[in-house]
Amino acid sequence: MEILDGKKAAQAIKDELKMEVAQLAVEGKKIPHLAAILVGNNGASETYVAAKVKACDEVGFKSTLVRFEADIPSVKLLEKVQELNNDPDVDGILVQLPLPKHIRERDVIDAIDPDKDVDGFHPVNIGKMLQGLPSFVPATPHGIMLLLEHFKVETKGKHAVVVGRSNIVGRPMSILLSSNSNPGNCTVTICHSHTQNLKELCLQADIIVAALGKPEFVTADMVKEGAVVVDVGITRLEDSTRKSGFKLKGDVQFDTVAPKCSWITPVPGGVGPMTIAALMKNTFVSCKMKN
Ligand code: NDP
Repeated sequence: MEILDGKKAAQAIKDELKMEVAQLAVEGKKIPHLAAILVGNNGASETYVAAKVKACDEVGFKSTLVRFEADIPSVKLLEKVQELNNDPDVDGILVQLPLPKHIRERDVIDAIDPDKDVDGFHPVNIGKMLQGLPSFVPATPHGIMLLLEHFKVETKGKHAVVVGRSNIVGRPMSILLSSNSNPGNCTVTICHSHTQNLKELCLQADIIVAALGKPEFVTADMVKEGAVVVDVGITRLEDSTRKSGFKLKGDVQFDTVAPKCSWITPVPGGVGPMTIAALMKNTFVSCKMKN
């Protein structure tokens, strides 16, 4: 069994970006600028946004963090998005999800200029991705593809089972894995909460992508020998023995599943860092298009 080390792969991507940004500076060109909007003070969202801002610093991007109270009226948030759309210095806009219940996430995502939608959630980008056209690919599935590429995991002709069909992970993941590309060219089965024979399907999988948000859901009896397992799940479970007061759990029961796998991602240190690396890559591309 080998570890799909997301920290290592993400570092390689960030190192490359850092060199490219330094080159832009030498040439007197524009430096990438990511603007992140954080609404409220959800602990997990705070952590994710802080990690994204830190990654910007690491690679030499400019970053702006815009914070709003949880009760901000929807219209104010939309105004801010519009302002960032119109700011020629901003290359990428991300609105950290989830948003408070009174704000319709769809409206906010739709308001972002597709050319600055570095999270890749805008319908224009999703549509382009579906057709295999250049687009911003959602950061988490994009990061997983970069991870498979980095470790040269063979995907062609394999049966991939994606558990979860969300717009930000499961669905785009299934499209990317089935696309005519490398990595890609998988035969894909996409599962959800109404799938009846999930265990049997997983047992047929050469590649499992677990993205359902249920800690340790995928157990050893669901995985065939030699499978590649990508664990997207991140759930915070209370743990009073830790300083933070919680521990992170993936959707895969790592200790029992890992011995059966050819490759497996850890949690933390697998998909998480790759999501951020993919976001950095998207922001760089957005800036380069302007340059
Ligand atoms: P969602 O809650 O939006 O989607 C979960 C999906 O899993 C749904 O499609 C749901 O089915 C399906 N599902 C739920 N229970 C079952 C079940 N028992 N059997 C089969 N399918 C099931 O979650 P996200 O896609 O946003 O996130 C999934 C996980 O990934 C979460 O833990 C999240 O924190 C994590 N995540 C991690 C990221 C990273 O960078 N590592 C980035 C983004 C997310 P249905 O559609 O029928 O309800």
